[in-house]
Amino acid sequence: MARSRQPVLPLTPLKNSSPPGVVIRCLMPTLTPEEYSGTRLANHKLALAITPYFFNLIDPADENCPIRRQVIPRVEETHTASWEMADPCGEDSHSPVPGLVHRYPDRVLFLVTDRCAAYCRYCTRSRLVSNASGYDFHPEFDRQIEYIRRHRGIRDVLLSGGDPLLFSDEKLAYLLRRLREIPHLEFLRIGTRIPLFLPQRITPELCAMLKNYHPLFVSIHSNHPRELTTEVRAALGRLADAGIPLGNQSVLLRDVNDNEIVMKAHVQKLLLCRVKPYYLYQCDLISGSAHLRASVRRGLEIMEKLRGHTTGYAVPAYVIDAPGGGGKVPVSPEYVLSRNADRVVIRNYEGRIFEYPEAADGTPLLPAPKEIGEPELV
Ligand code: SF4
Repeated sequence: MARSRQPVLPLTPLKNSSPPGVVIRCLMPTLTPEEYSGTRLANHKLALAITPYFFNLIDPADENCPIRRQVIPRVEETHTASWEMADPCGEDSHSPVPGLVHRYPDRVLFLVTDRCAAYCRYCTRSRLVSNASGYDFHPEFDRQIEYIRRHRGIRDVLLSGGDPLLFSDEKLAYLLRRLREIPHLEFLRIGTRIPLFLPQRITPELCAMLKNYHPLFVSIHSNHPRELTTEVRAALGRLADAGIPLGNQSVLLRDVNDNEIVMKAHVQKLLLCRVKPYYLYQCDLISGSAHLRASVRRGLEIMEKLRGHTTGYAVPAYVIDAPGGGGKVPVSPEYVLSRNADRVVIRNYEGRIFEYPEAADGTPLLPAPKEIGEPELV
């Protein structure tokens, strides 16, 4: 349930969700000096915007509130390490037309807008979203769609941005309809954080419209169980009732969810909300995000505490988006201890060790026993 102990920001969520630092300080006098400096500097990198709904989830008495750490800027954002990048996933170098990223052979990322309802301080697309750093993003839908039409190997389009669900129902339907007219497209996806930032946007009308474009999947982005409020659960239920398979993408964030208890609670609560935990991302090397990045070691320890310890459906794939544009690489605790032509030695989630006899590409290792050997001809 969204807590209402704080005043609601005097801003309407869609028209203007960008309270300046002074407004935030008025509403949350407990801002730390690091946060206050961050709010004053933030707009040089990524605009500061928080929906009133999400702002009200922040615990003002807790400096380490996991909601707060995701959206309130800190002065550390101005510290940049030499290995950090403005475009850590190399999207721009895989962009054949503005707003389209074609990295994998059979699918494309279709960036539809540079606006989000709120801005995550670790956003991989900080260079682009909010236009704070002057990227000047202008998607050209006709060119994007024409590229997809001409490339018959593309079977899957992910609409993202920015957040596609900031569009009106009509504008989104227009795009989906045009994509559905392309015969070789099998599958559409929408990546959105709106169900978490603004669950009220998931109206019955929106769900009824989306239903017309199946198969359509929606990937949400939630990082902490406290985001999964009653309102969010209801919004996700409406999407699920419209037949839309839901997956979640989390980013592993220091002092937000880099903890096995928090992560387990999160993935289990996602299932309660009818959402499959899909990916756990190692935080990309986005400039100014070192204070939010947890280590890969921590990520592996967390995965170790999930696999076998909770429902398999609740276990996401832990991936690193290879810096510079190598795509997603799965990383996992090591369960195969050794392997040769004859056997595989594995361990289970309890650390017990087992041997599995290797099958040599369909040839049995041992001759079949006589009784089940070749049938005799009569
Ligand atoms: S909602 Fe997604 S695109 Fe928007 S700021 Fe957050 S991570 Fe970036």
